[in-house]
Amino acid sequence: EIKVAGIGKSYGAFCALKDVSLDIGRGEFLTLLGPSGSGKSTFLMVLAGFERPSQGKLFRDGVDITDQPPERRSAGMVFQGYALFPHMSVAANIAFPLRVRRKPEDEIKRRVGEMVERVNLLGHEHKLPAKLSGGQQQRVALARALVFEPGVLLLDEPFSALDKSLRGQMQAEMKRLHEETGTTFVFVTHDQSEALALSSRVSIFNHGEVLQVGTPQEVYERPSSRFVAEFLGEIN
Ligand code: ATP
Ligand code: MG
Repeated sequence: EIKVAGIGKSYGAFCALKDVSLDIGRGEFLTLLGPSGSGKSTFLMVLAGFERPSQGKLFRDGVDITDQPPERRSAGMVFQGYALFPHMSVAANIAFPLRVRRKPEDEIKRRVGEMVERVNLLGHEHKLPAKLSGGQQQRVALARALVFEPGVLLLDEPFSALDKSLRGQMQAEMKRLHEETGTTFVFVTHDQSEALALSSRVSIFNHGEVLQVGTPQEVYERPSSRFVAEFLGEIN
């Protein structure tokens, strides 16, 4: 599991994260919820190793990984723009993390085949991303992030570009992938109902601080502050 101990991140005089402490259990689905600019993406970048914290430490299964580079952290990532390689087919996009890891060709073929099936993209393997719908592209991004069996999957508002019905489908898909793979998911969203539907726990961010962490039911029924109550009450 992951232990976040007193993480701070400053950009010059500006404090993007303040003393964030959090335990993330193995196989958990943790959602980071909070207004724009509250530090959610910064926190994911610190977890992934792309940003170094200014204070505090990160531990994975008791090992200090604060200074470990991203490539050693075994984190899969899906970001808002999903950045598929436009000149590569669906299959080649999904295979990419395995090629980087120099896996044998027969294993790559097998694992890509499994992922294509798992995210319902059978028949689309040879298409370029531009020929796919937004939801299909998003599923390619999910498959590419999961294909190397990362210990943790970091998702930064992956569905924000999708329309409402597609979003609903992708939520269901993600929930199923979480249950099937047992991977730890850390998921960022603006959408309170999305958080409620998917998460084992949610953590509420505001101004770089974690105001409350708990199951969806706990934070809805017993918000720790007026801000949390009002934020959760907002309808998107
Ligand atoms: P959103 O919901 O809009 O994506 P967020 O919660 O993800 O917001 P962050 O992107 O983590 O917010 O940003 C937190 C704060 O840190 C913002 O005020 C942002 O302007 C600032 N910030 C983020 N990255 C940098 C940087 N590289 N240099 C300076 N300030 C930064
Ligand atoms: Mg963000």
